[in-house]
Order: sequence, then structure tokens, then C-alpha cells
Amino acid sequence: MDLSTEIQFLQGVGPKRAELLQKEMDLFTVEDLLYLIPYKYLDKSKIYQISELNSTISVAIQLKGRISNIQTIGQGRARRLSAKFTDTTGSIELVWFKGIQWVQKTLKPNSEYIIFGKPTLFNGKFNITHPEIESSIEANKSTGLEPQYSIPEKLKSKFISSKVILKLIKKILAKNIFIPETLPASIIKENKLLRLKDCIYNIHFPKNQEILKQAEYRIKFEELFYIQLKLLMQKQYKKDKFKGAVFSTIGNNFNTFFKKHLSFELTNAQKRVIKEIRADFASGKQMNRLLQGDVGSGKTLVALFSMLIAIDNNFQTALMAPTEILATQHFNTISKQLKNLPIKIHLLTGSTKKAERKIIDQDLRSGECQILIGTHALIEDTVVFENLALVIIDEQHRFGVAQRAKLWKKGKLIPHILVMTATPIPRTLSMTLYGDLDISVIDELPPGRKAIKTIHMYDGQQERLIKFMREQITLGRQIYVVYPLIKESEKLDFKALEEGFWTLNDAFPAPQYAISIVHGQKTAKEKEWEMQRFVKKQTQIMVATTVIEVGVDVPNATVMVIESAERFGLSQLHQLRGRVGRGAEQSFCILRTSYKLGKESKERINAMVSSNDGFYLSEIDMKLRGPGSIEGTQQSGIPFQLRLANLITDQLILQQARQVAENILSSDPYLTLNEHSVLLRNIKKNAIF
Ligand code: ADP
Ligand code: MG
Repeated sequence: MDLSTEIQFLQGVGPKRAELLQKEMDLFTVEDLLYLIPYKYLDKSKIYQISELNSTISVAIQLKGRISNIQTIGQGRARRLSAKFTDTTGSIELVWFKGIQWVQKTLKPNSEYIIFGKPTLFNGKFNITHPEIESSIEANKSTGLEPQYSIPEKLKSKFISSKVILKLIKKILAKNIFIPETLPASIIKENKLLRLKDCIYNIHFPKNQEILKQAEYRIKFEELFYIQLKLLMQKQYKKDKFKGAVFSTIGNNFNTFFKKHLSFELTNAQKRVIKEIRADFASGKQMNRLLQGDVGSGKTLVALFSMLIAIDNNFQTALMAPTEILATQHFNTISKQLKNLPIKIHLLTGSTKKAERKIIDQDLRSGECQILIGTHALIEDTVVFENLALVIIDEQHRFGVAQRAKLWKKGKLIPHILVMTATPIPRTLSMTLYGDLDISVIDELPPGRKAIKTIHMYDGQQERLIKFMREQITLGRQIYVVYPLIKESEKLDFKALEEGFWTLNDAFPAPQYAISIVHGQKTAKEKEWEMQRFVKKQTQIMVATTVIEVGVDVPNATVMVIESAERFGLSQLHQLRGRVGRGAEQSFCILRTSYKLGKESKERINAMVSSNDGFYLSEIDMKLRGPGSIEGTQQSGIPFQLRLANLITDQLILQQARQVAENILSSDPYLTLNEHSVLLRNIKKNAIF
């Protein structure tokens, strides 16, 4: 027998059970079985006495005693089975809500049992709900920590229990099966890891908590290490393989813009990031850089400087945005900012007219157009450049990896790529999610911004809200009112939006007031018209769905009202809030919710009220919802369903694993050293523990 032996050949399994184990648990080979990780352990190292129970016990413990007074109590949904459990020091109640018949049939009054469970205090007395029960004769055999494997119901009904699995594993390990090591000896030694063989033994049969911790550590480390190693190798491979245009000079456009047209100082963070980008431009390698920065931190300006460098070196650039509104807005601001410079800029979107499109095509092919701004339309195959050398992608999470790749085919060179995202994600996650990109962070807002005040208001407080809005409008400010609109409940949501609009119309009547409205059912042209009215201050209020979520920049808008705020995710709320607080005036974000709020919604709203820091909020978001739900993780192709490691709680291990991977690659970039051959083999096999 070796690791690749099929399970069906194990004693006590056979083809029928093997098929079930395959289907329900993905277990094919002996290796799969050994790598099955228990979801918890029962501490059987000690038998407690009932007199020792106290309210500080927070884990399942073991008791030994006799069961009596088995009886059903209550009716209907409240029906439950109750029994008295007594040892030499006292008694407690046992309670079952499910499987009552089975318990009644199997438990024998007055014989001795070992029970297992977490005692809870109820009406001043301890009880245990749904204890695990064994006859004391059988139970005495195991000592220490007993693993519990997660078993699907279907297998349980066929009598394949956690215990059965444990027995199989025990038999395999008893045969002293050969388990080849999957990490180089040097890594094991330097990081004080258990050897794989000891790790596997102790994950199933830990003698104590201490050794179990060590076994778990090794598994987590290895899992994270291989992911990082792979990402770092990909990144390095791209760097070695793909040449990028070299921008060697800082020319007139850059200098003139910097000296004459910039009305403010760059923040230190902006300066630092521009330096990082310049270093990439000088390296001769293709840049693949992610620029993270909270909303309003001035990413677009960094993008503009990068483009000017490319243009000064006689190359073309493109800026891609996820929506037409955003692309148009970028076009307008950038055109305005560069209006005194000899730079040709075009806007290309789905609604660009044919005649206009022809001119754009010509200007792109001749190289005359130096900046092309647009939406997805940019990546269509028909768009051909003369010498595109830099592509900037705004709001990365809306673009998939495949779309990024398409850009590479646009010119003779592979363009440098800068992706900008205003969705801050925790560092550990970006290390993984964007592990193949270099990362720059703008962690500082331009000076003089006042922190946005965030207020939670209930639906019933309509009067208060209207009064507040009136005050702000009287001060000359503008207001966004945002409604959720999601596909699943589109009709209802749309109704809420329209009703909200008419209510506001009553409260803010023409001609004194005017209201813009933007939503998905309007054409691009209508949306643009409504937007422009707001930008030009012809309207004081903008009612919208989340189309305005990203990037819209109206500094005079100081109030963001978010209706049904409990239905938005934390990062979305933060994005929306970022639409205000762009000018010098005090801004406000008002989160409107119903009176009834779930626990998680409450936590989200509280987090928003208490913090303006996008990175902090993203940590909370990940804690509340798990890393798999963070935008971008799905398309990434990274297995976020890790076996044991957790990207939230195991950040330190992740950092260590990444450091080890970096060290190895810096001395042996292609893993050609003999002692690293095991790494190469496992990366190819994709065999991550
Ligand atoms: P982001 O794209 O990161 O959300 P923008 O680049 O749109 O942010 O910048 C937000 C606003 O701040 C813009 O009006 C921009 O002109 C302004 N801004 C950018 N950098 C600075 C700076 N260093 N000092 C003052 N204002 C700045
Ligand atoms: Mg932006």
C-alpha cells in the first residue's frame, strides 16, 4: 500500500462504500484520506465531575455518570426530550430537540455512560443540549484529543461515521506507510516545522493541544506558502519575459503641467507612488502595478502624470473606466486640465457616433491621438493603436483578468498596465488576490479635507431628514440620494426609487428647487444630461441608483443620503460615501435604515458611523463576510476555500510564508537547485496540502 492506493482496496471499505466516499467526500486514495482534516477535537484527556462545572467552561467537556428520568416535555415545536444525568457529585439535565425517538430507543436507564458536550447555565442550573453519548466501556479506550471529521448526512445514514473514518486512518498509519516530504529540509528546519509524516500523524492523533497546534501550523504554512510561491513565480516570469517601453525622459508636457497647471502640492503618498511608477518605466520590463487608494485620495492625478511621461516619450496611452458616466467625466476633467498643452485626447464609448469613430480610428493609427479615454469599447479588436505603451484601468474590480489580457494585443509592444482601485482590501488579501502585481498604496488624503460626518437615521425620521436637506441646500450645497437596485428585486426597488423621487418632489417643489434622476433605465445620453445638470448646479438634488457609486466627482455635493442602507455591503457604503467630502465644506453621510436590523447590518452601520478609513472598514467587512465574498476574489481563480489556513486570522503565517517564498526565489528564481526540486514538483502538480 502507498499513498496512491485506492480506498476501495482498504480492509472494511470495498467498492460500494468507496463509491459513496468518492461521491460525497471526494475521497479517492489513501492520500486523500490522510489529508482529511478534522473540523474539531473532543478533549477526552480528563473526566470532569458535575460539582466542578462553572460558567467559565467554554468548550465541550467529558462527564461520566448514569441517565434517568427520560421523558418528553412540551408540545409541537417546543417538544423536547429531557433526562437527568447523575454522577457521584451531583446531577444536571440533558436535552434533545431532534432525534428524540432514536435517543429514547437507544439509551438505557441506569447504565453508565460517558457524555460529551458544553454545559450551559439555564435558570441557575447547568444543562447540556445534544450531548454525544458513549457507553463507558467503549469510551474508555480513547484518550487525549479525539478528532471529529465532518461527515455528510448521506454517509451517516449508511453507517459511515466519523469514528469509521478514524479507524481507517488509524489502520493506514499503523502500517507505517511511506509519506514523502513535501517541503525542502531547509524550510522545515529554519521555520521549526513538523515533518510531514509527524504532522499527518498528529493531525489525526494528537497527544495534546501543543503538538496539535504545531501540526496545524505546518499545514497552514504549507498551504499559504505554495500559493505565494506560485504567485511570485508568475510575477517574476512575466517580468522576465515581457519587455516594456522605456520612458527615459521627463519632458515638456510633464514639466509644464507640474509647474504651471497644478494648483496644489502633491501629497507625499502621491509623490512616492509616481516615483515607483517612474522606476518601472525605466526598467525595460513591462509594468503590472496595482494602485490602491481610498476614494478621493488623488489616484486620477497620479494616472495623469504617468500618461504625461509616456506622451513625452512619444507613446500613446489609454484610460479605461467601467461606466460611460465615469469615462465621460474623466474625459472632461482631463481635457480641462490639459487644455493648454499640445495633447490630443479622444473619448470612445458605446455611444460614440460613426463619423466621430472614424476620426478616432484615424488618429489612433497615425499616432496623433495621445490619450484615448473610454469604456470597454476600448478593448474591442477593431481599436488599433500606432504605439500604445501605457494603459490605465480605473476601478479594477469591474474588469476581469481576461479583459486585462486583451489589452496586450493592442500594439506592437505589450503596454505597461496600471490598475487603480478605490476598494481598499486588507493587505493580506491583496498579497494573495493581486500577488502577481506590484502594489502601490496612497494612504493619505489631500490636506484640508474635513472628515465626513456619518449619521444613522431610521426610515421614520423623514421630517428630520427633509429639514436637514433644506438647510444644506440653503447653504448652497448639493445632495445625493441613493437607492439600492438589484436584479432580484428590480421591480420593487424601482418602485421605491420612484416613490422616493416623488416624495422629494413634493418637499422640494419647482421652481425653487430642481431634482436630477439617474438610473439604469435611462439611456446613456439621458444620464449624461441629468449628470450635467447636477454638475452645473442647475439641480440641487440627485436621486440615483448605484450608477454613481464609482468615481463621480462633484465637490459641491456635501450630503450623501443612502436609503435602505442595510442592504448595501460595507465597501459599497464606503464607496458611496466617498462621493461627498471632496470640497472644503463639512460633508455628511446619512444612512437610512428600517427600525428592524439584523446583527450583521447593525455592525456594518456602526462601523460606518465610527470610521472613515477604507482599509479599516475592509478588514471588518472581511471579518463579517469572509474573504470569498470580497469583490474580485471570485474571478481571481485563487482557491479561497483553503483547507485550514484562514486569510483573516492567519495573517502572520501568511506574511511569514510569503517572506520564505521571496527568499527562496531571490536565491533560486527558477527553482533549479536540487534541494528545491520538491517545490517545483509540487507547484506543477498543484498539490497543496
Ligand atoms: P480618486 O480617483 O483617488 O478618488 P481623484 O484623483 O478623483 O481621487 O481626486 C479627488 C479630488 O482631489 C479631485 O478633485 C482632485 O483634483 C483633488 N486632488 C488630487 N490630489 C490633490 C492634492 N494633492 N491636493 C489637493 N487636491 C487634490
Ligand atoms: Mg477616481
